[in-house]
Amino acid sequence: MFSKGTKLYSVLHRKCPHCHEGEFMVTRNPYDLTLTGDLLPGCSVCHRKYQPEPGFYYGGMYVTYALSVGLCIAIFIATLVLAPDISAVDQILWILGALVVLAPPIYAWSKIMWANMFISYKGVAHLPDEDAKWVMR
Ligand SMILES: [Zn+2]
Repeated sequence: MFSKGTKLYSVLHRKCPHCHEGEFMVTRNPYDLTLTGDLLPGCSVCHRKYQPEPGFYYGGMYVTYALSVGLCIAIFIATLVLAPDISAVDQILWILGALVVLAPPIYAWSKIMWANMFISYKGVAHLPDEDAKWVMR
């Protein structure tokens, strides 16, 4: 389930959705706020590009929304279970705090999840011509 070749592997390790070996993001640290969410132009291993068309990653906002709502529901349930006497204001503060703290990794994960929805694993197949770098296949 978590082995190479599955979409979950690519998402969890933030690796190239084509070959699952090259890096996908500019930085592996989502809290490096100047580079959070920045993608490399293509894979350094298989040389396929990450952006099939301009504006492709705008769709990642739907994934961000889904992850954020899921986080809000999880924090809401966790506060009800772990602290049944908690006030509504404290619950909201916990939810907002979690959203602020986890916003950078959610943003980074949303892009790799969106890419994996449309890009399938193809394995590493090096292009014979170095001039043909960053092609979409
Ligand atoms: Zn690759």
